[in-house]
Amino acid sequence: MNGSPHLIQANTSSDRSSRPFGAYGGPKGLVAALARGDRRALAKAITLVESSNAAHRDAACQVLDAAMATKPESIRLGITGIPGVGKSSFIESFGLHVIEQGRRVAVLAVDPSSPRSGGSILGDKIRMEMLGRNPGAFIRPSPSGGNLGGVARRTREAAHLCEAAGFDVVIVETVGVGQSETAVSEMVDMFLLLLAPGGGDELQGIKKGIVELADLIVVNKADGDLADAAERARQDYANALRLLKPPSRAWTPRVLKCSARAFNGIADVWRAVLKYREALEPDGRIADKRETQNRAWMWHEISQGMLDRLKRDDRVATRVNALESAVAKGETTPSRAAEEILTLFLEG
Ligand code: GDP
Repeated sequence: MNGSPHLIQANTSSDRSSRPFGAYGGPKGLVAALARGDRRALAKAITLVESSNAAHRDAACQVLDAAMATKPESIRLGITGIPGVGKSSFIESFGLHVIEQGRRVAVLAVDPSSPRSGGSILGDKIRMEMLGRNPGAFIRPSPSGGNLGGVARRTREAAHLCEAAGFDVVIVETVGVGQSETAVSEMVDMFLLLLAPGGGDELQGIKKGIVELADLIVVNKADGDLADAAERARQDYANALRLLKPPSRAWTPRVLKCSARAFNGIADVWRAVLKYREALEPDGRIADKRETQNRAWMWHEISQGMLDRLKRDDRVATRVNALESAVAKGETTPSRAAEEILTLFLEG
């Protein structure tokens, strides 16, 4: 094979795409490395999952099937809060504490607004420097761009891969502003809302529905000049929560305060996470929640997949423009046009 085009192109992206498993040889090699907790293998597997290349998608499915067949014990924690509240500082301190407790922590970000992964890789490295250097941690920035559905799908799959690699605490963080909270709450066991002191003003940046999704509210920056305001905010939110219906009968959401900077109150947050698990797990409520989420995910995949295929269908393509303009001009109704497209797609 010496001198063959294959060798000449050994390092080009086309060669990489034809060998999606790289040095791991194939799905078995990659899954075996994942099972050993190899962080490089995990990064590689997530790259496959995020790829839009058809050959990679097939390879990713093989790895995901193997990963999802394993049933590791894990806790999936969603963390949200407006930019500047201290999410990355909190995740860094919290992650280091959890690692001290003998766990391994993976951090995944959901940011549909991020234009390119290159930029956010750098951003995330700077944002969680100490945690990133810790061998017990794995940090992955948001997949590049795309719509929320696509980013959420890849993050869900990445979470499974992290668990298969032995990361027993998987943190899914929302990085963008205000669109991904619901998507994240639908892929985690517990949802944590991080706030800063400020007498409720910051609630203006957070939709009320988000407070209702929270299993735990943490007021960060409870230090220095902000310490008193943080305690007042904690009490205000605790009062506000009493007026809301708890998301689960087994657990009443609570409000804590901490300082990510001073490492204060971080252990209390971890204890609350463990208590949440103790409260829900014996009745199988976490398993139920995951089952419900998986069912919803399946239907989401079906509708997304159907729509993708429909849009690629030649018969539909030849008719769709005319129907769209007829709908726009009021010559036919949207439902009649939709029915015609569906009939064309399904019956040819
Ligand atoms: P993010 O945008 O939510 O990820 O927030 P960052 O973690 O980047 O923090 C935003 C700003 O708040 C930075 O200047 C941090 O240094 C500061 N900050 C974060 N945590 C704390 C804290 O516990 N106490 C104080 N006083 N400042 C904090």
